Amino acid sequence: MLLKQIIVLKTIMKIKTGLRIGGSREELKIGDIDNPVIRDPLTNEPYIPGSSLKGKMRSSLEITLKGTKDPCNCGNCPICVLFGAAKNKPQSGEKEVTRLIVRDSFMTEKSKKLLLDFVGDYVEIKKENVINRVTGVAKDPRTLDRIPAGTEFECEFVLRIYQKDQEKVEEYIKYIETALTLIELTYLGGSGTRGYGKVEFGENGNKIIEKKVYEIVKSEDGFVKVEEKSEDS
Ligand SMILES: [Zn+2]
Repeated sequence: MLLKQIIVLKTIMKIKTGLRIGGSREELKIGDIDNPVIRDPLTNEPYIPGSSLKGKMRSSLEITLKGTKDPCNCGNCPICVLFGAAKNKPQSGEKEVTRLIVRDSFMTEKSKKLLLDFVGDYVEIKKENVINRVTGVAKDPRTLDRIPAGTEFECEFVLRIYQKDQEKVEEYIKYIETALTLIELTYLGGSGTRGYGKVEFGENGNKIIEKKVYEIVKSEDGFVKVEEKSEDS
């Protein structure tokens, strides 16, 4: 298990319809803001946790390739190798390292400025009601935090490539691109079946817009050094 390369892939995610991200609050009051987006406690900026994006990428691939949303956990298939497996094959004794790291995604500087200028905050508050179909009276009004359409986030994926993976780099990247396409065709975050969370990745038809390859090589002094090779995809 010699680590040979680190590949850093970057893209932009554009929010096409309001995005709700985040867990439900422990105590919910009617009329309170539920399902808040996750905000950085220091800057108050919303961000998309890497775990949310990675989880959605994985479940989108699992439902498409294996017909179940449950994690496979076999430890051998490309999804387990990329995304990790909770339990490893007991007989092999060799623990596979999860190849894919999904970073937290933060808003672009341009989006931050636009939101502060036009909305006055990084999120908008949307009021929703349940309408009684007979009386037409709204009940259970609630307000929801959401990231407005048009906002852009920077996403970063890191692939750890070991000696035995070197033939599989293109396949791994294809899995990532396919997962992003599947999210585009469905949704990210909460309330996706009600119109939220339509997103688009990339630019000009490319899902990934920057690829940097860091080769890990032995240096003359017997230690290791990292050499950067840039590739525009
Ligand atoms: Zn598996």
